Amino acid sequence: MRAFTYERASSVEAAAGAAASNRNAKFIAGGTNLLDLMKLEIETPTHLIDVNGLGLDQIEATQDGGLRIGALVRNTDLAAHTTVRRDYGLLSRALVAGASGQLRNKATTAGNLLQRTRCPYFYDTNQPCNKRQPGSGCSAIGGFSRQHAVVGVSDACIATHPSDMAIAMRALDATVETVKADASRRSIPIADFHRLPGDTPHIETALEPGEFITAVVLPPPIGGKHIYKKVRDRASYAFALISVGAVIQPDGTGRVAVGGVAHKPWRVEAAEADLPKGARGAAQHILAGARPTEENRFKVELVQRTLGAVLSEARG
Ligand SMILES: Cc1cc2nc3c(=O)[nH]c(=O)nc-3n(C[C@H](O)[C@H](O)[C@H](O)COP(=O)(O)OP(=O)(O)OC[C@H]3O[C@@H](n4cnc5c(N)ncnc54)[C@H](O)[C@@H]3O)c2cc1C
Ligand code: SF4
Repeated sequence: MRAFTYERASSVEAAAGAAASNRNAKFIAGGTNLLDLMKLEIETPTHLIDVNGLGLDQIEATQDGGLRIGALVRNTDLAAHTTVRRDYGLLSRALVAGASGQLRNKATTAGNLLQRTRCPYFYDTNQPCNKRQPGSGCSAIGGFSRQHAVVGVSDACIATHPSDMAIAMRALDATVETVKADASRRSIPIADFHRLPGDTPHIETALEPGEFITAVVLPPPIGGKHIYKKVRDRASYAFALISVGAVIQPDGTGRVAVGGVAHKPWRVEAAEADLPKGARGAAQHILAGARPTEENRFKVELVQRTLGAVLSEARG
């Protein structure tokens, strides 16, 4: 690990200001992803801004009946919150499907959204990787790609976004609230928050340098059955091969977001009109234009089968 300096931020504005004055600074929340990456020298910040003391660990009702989740709310606390379990069950289920109890006790809402890919070549500093070192090439294309993306891919990167929580946030139409380095604030719809890889897979979100997440806001509850199905190689403590997060209404309409298939939580709103007719048409629509590799072609059928299981569970 490279040497770094450390400070505890005293306010949100001070945190954003500290990041603005040092381009090599990083915020640290739970540290469950960042510290691993620093030990491997994949991330090499020269300064850490600890944001754990900023009081952003509250979950509050919004005026319109939604929920504001502070950026520092731990995954365990969010999953267990009474309102989340009652009105946003999809979010609670997606959270407990992720990582382990110990990790969820430390992992935060913002850190979870910003966790980096689990592509094995990204973690192997002996291998070319455009995301780790822009312009060096992509080892997964033509290499081991069983876990990788099938839609929204580019010739530069086929990595997936690994977060379970983000899949639920996408289906629930969350908004990410931030403060920029100049102290101005903005709200970013989750649909626009994560990016596709294109030619710049190292740029993963819409955040500007130094921009700090303060909260994630959920709109008022939409009812329906909330289901999260995660398919993985081990029953627990494993990232999704694919996952399906859904809210299905009694008439069969609903919302679906899919994980493990793209560089961002994948939702195709136009496909949701097909849900009452069953999984096949909707899944084909969701994965239209898919470019799987020989090793991950199975994901295309797996999405349809998992969506089928979700719809049958929703019908009871
Ligand atoms: C063994 C293992 C298994 C796992 N399994 C799963 C799994 O199955 N599913 C899953 O979804 N996740 C899984 N995870 C990932 C885990 O959920 C993430 O590591 C965690 O959510 C990251 O949150 P954190 O608070 O620890 O982030 P940190 O590591 O502190 O930070 C992550 C990134 O976010 C930035 N950041 C943090 N807070 C802010 C903020 N407020 N504003 C702007 N930037 C910020 C940091 O600078 C850093 O770049 C696993 C992790 C491990 C180690
Ligand atoms: S898929 Fe993306 S993260 Fe993986 S090696 Fe290729 S460029 Fe790197």
